Amino acid sequence: MNVIEIQDLCKTYFRAGTPIRALDQVSFGIKQGELVAIVGRSGSGKSTLLNMVGGLDTATSGHILCHGKDVVALSHHELADYRKKTVGIIFQSFHLIPSRSALENVSLALAFANVPKRQRKERAIEVLEQVGLSHRLDHQPRELSGGEAQRVAIARALANNPEILLADEPTGNLDSQTAEEIGALLKELNHKGATILMVTHDAELAGQIAHKTISFSDGKIQQIKIKE
Ligand code: ADP
Ligand code: MG
Repeated sequence: MNVIEIQDLCKTYFRAGTPIRALDQVSFGIKQGELVAIVGRSGSGKSTLLNMVGGLDTATSGHILCHGKDVVALSHHELADYRKKTVGIIFQSFHLIPSRSALENVSLALAFANVPKRQRKERAIEVLEQVGLSHRLDHQPRELSGGEAQRVAIARALANNPEILLADEPTGNLDSQTAEEIGALLKELNHKGATILMVTHDAELAGQIAHKTISFSDGKIQQIKIKE
């Protein structure tokens, strides 16, 4: 069963009247429990694809089916709900709120998804424990290492039990050892059942943890490698 089924997805940006085909007829599926990596050079369309699956940008044509429902056709209101509950996203630069603690950063995602106040703290602590941060609940982002900040972002993305975790260059701002640790955490979460779509320029990381690695070039799928 595919959680996400991408069909003939195209995205064309226009800059000064000149079209840029950021995505060109992209089709593939992501099965429940799968960890799929998208690799490719800078500018190959990786982030564009992830943003579309995350409901952050709109497609020019094509379909993104999530459990059969087309994300491309969602109303404004439905799309807001999809972003809050169906997907969890992490970025290269963490995107945490600077003035809030780790616990508050995660609790806010729960608040936005209308989780009742008294359940938020317990759930936030639970996901922060899952990413190994129970000792950093009250730390603000500037009091965290890069690896810890990314763990908070992962906890926040998982808080509402999304159907799929989306990661755009999750290790891009980290030193190699910390990057390996975050890779190992994503792999562990996947083993425990999380479905993950990760974009990375790090082909080695992709090879280590992904079931399926899709190479992009100029907005097109060039190759799909499936791990034995
Ligand atoms: P990647 O994440 O693989 O580095 P992107 O998906 O960010 O690549 O970009 C794919 C292509 O689309 C690039 O040529 C980029 O310059 C272009 N692009 C991305 N976003 C925009 C935008 N908002 N407006 C115009 N062009 C864009
Ligand atoms: Mg990118």
